[in-house]
Amino acid sequence: MAKRDYYEVLGVERTASPEEIKKAYRKAALRYHPDRNPGNAEAESQFKECSEAFQVLSDDEKRHTYDRLGHDGLTGAGYAGPGDLGDIFTHFQDLFGDFFGFASQEAAGRGRGDGPSRGADLKTVVVLSLADAVQGTKRDIDLEHPAACGACQGSGAEPGNPPEKCTACGGRGQVSHARGVFVISSACRTCEGRGMTIKVRCRTCNGRGETVTRRKVKVSFPAGIDSGQTLRVAGQGAAGRNGGPPGHLYVEVHIEDDPRFRREGCDLVCEVPISFARAALGTEVEIPLLDGGTTRVQIPAGTQPGQALTLRGRGIPRLDGHGRGDLIAVVRVLIPRKLTRKQREQMEELAELLEE
Ligand SMILES: [Zn+2]
Ligand SMILES: [Zn+2]
Repeated sequence: MAKRDYYEVLGVERTASPEEIKKAYRKAALRYHPDRNPGNAEAESQFKECSEAFQVLSDDEKRHTYDRLGHDGLTGAGYAGPGDLGDIFTHFQDLFGDFFGFASQEAAGRGRGDGPSRGADLKTVVVLSLADAVQGTKRDIDLEHPAACGACQGSGAEPGNPPEKCTACGGRGQVSHARGVFVISSACRTCEGRGMTIKVRCRTCNGRGETVTRRKVKVSFPAGIDSGQTLRVAGQGAAGRNGGPPGHLYVEVHIEDDPRFRREGCDLVCEVPISFARAALGTEVEIPLLDGGTTRVQIPAGTQPGQALTLRGRGIPRLDGHGRGDLIAVVRVLIPRKLTRKQREQMEELAELLEE
């Protein structure tokens, strides 16, 4: 099957900026991510395809080669694509770490021997309404992540049957082999370098030493937080092992569109529809406020379509605490699409008067 064009795969222009490419990839990867499409081979292949496109287009040199010579140029330069899913996750861990639940979990939580180690960081995404983001809010966030098994304290051994010193290595975790004059040490295979072996596996965790735990964490979102910003909640990540400190929880904020307002930095923009007659005569309108109420605003006579009225300090609080942005009301002048007979007659008359 012919390979699709990388720009087409990500749905971006050939002139797209690195930021646009990254954005497009995150969107596609989020949609086709295997965690969200378990057992869906079609999604998996699309996930791989967009990951490959991103790997090339996010690398200046590879992108340049691809722009000039296409797929063949990359093959010629020895580029073989990102490989299997595991490689993709490893390669783009930073990117996934930002976005997908607990991508960094495995790496942080396991395989560090028996010394104290800091718990894994947890990452999650929370969607807030624009009003909540503007006023600040508190949320209970449900977390689900692996944690040391409570029954065996993470040892993996059934209580009452503690792990025993490994007989193969004498508890050292290392075995030595003579190779001529050299003595070579390697990790003991029997105990996988732990120095202890489990006689009876913990029934709660089946010897894995960890179970999935669910808990709630209350998180406060400061007034004025914007989409794409991430909060760090210290110490609310996964528990540490063997007395190590817990990891942190990172909460990325997404803000829903609001039908009434558009956000521009700390300013809020809303539309005020009025008839062309009112625009000419001047009028008073009610404008919605984000916190629920409304306020009355004078539209002066002779207001033009698109003209903006600024209500100072009625926008979004600044995160640094220095006041608020503005509320900007943009006048939309409505022209009737249909006229009744009476309206038409009077309009004709008015038209003539206006042309005098
Ligand atoms: Zn256990
Ligand atoms: Zn051993």
